[in-house]
Amino acid sequence: MPAHDRAAAGIATGAPDAVPSRMDHDAVAEPRHNVITAAGGLVRAAARGLLRVALPPLCPSCRGPLADAGGLCARCWSQLAFITRPYCERLGTPLAHDAGPGILSGEAVANPPAYGRARAAVQYDDVAASLVHALKYGDRLDLAPMLARWMAVAGRDIVADADAIVPVPLHWRRLWMRRFNQSAALGAAIGREAGRPFVFDALRRVKPTPQQVGLSRDARAANVQGAFRLDAAAQARLRGRRVVLVDDVLTSGATVEACARALMRGGVAAVGVLVFARVVKAGSIPI
Ligand SMILES: [Zn+2]
Repeated sequence: MPAHDRAAAGIATGAPDAVPSRMDHDAVAEPRHNVITAAGGLVRAAARGLLRVALPPLCPSCRGPLADAGGLCARCWSQLAFITRPYCERLGTPLAHDAGPGILSGEAVANPPAYGRARAAVQYDDVAASLVHALKYGDRLDLAPMLARWMAVAGRDIVADADAIVPVPLHWRRLWMRRFNQSAALGAAIGREAGRPFVFDALRRVKPTPQQVGLSRDARAANVQGAFRLDAAAQARLRGRRVVLVDDVLTSGATVEACARALMRGGVAAVGVLVFARVVKAGSIPI
């Protein structure tokens, strides 16, 4: 991945992969050693090529063999539950019946969020979870463009109105540990896909928050309250603008709500939310 893409994906600099490689070290060795090292490199490259021939590409979800690299196997693809209308125009939650354009869910009317409209590509289920897990913990940044394409389609209406794409940030300690921010990787790819500016560092996570997993809805909201702030430089750039906030998974909505409030406090005119997967069925447990 080029350096500018890595920065756009929020990849921590100075992380272990920034340590000079063995080849970098060998480059300053004496010339004869260089020849031997270069030959060794060719052998290793040939071995990798043979491995690629011997081992077919694998489905990023079930690890089953794929005919071609990229995409999912037919079984995982058929299991993905893409979210299409009818859904609540505000929250993006699927509705059982199509009651006409502009329909809102009872929840959106009773408890309207700070953000305007939320959209998700798929329902959070086993296949979606495995893709998020691979992106987040498995260093499968190569999945980001595919997931981002699905997200750009699902959020076509809010992305079309957006002046900028902003990711949900990680606290710097977690960014350091994980080496990249999966939401930033998705946001950067959506920005490229839709031709919208991507503002990687607009939001800061000013308070390290425990993982939301296992917390109740109220506890999740309390956990992230006051955790985000709009960066001063970004504030000048985004004042009065429309922003699409990107995250990987939406569970209770507490994180995107806290981010939307921080953006609005900083003078952003409107916030839309675009996630890869959202929890729809009660009791679904995100990773
Ligand atoms: Zn599969």
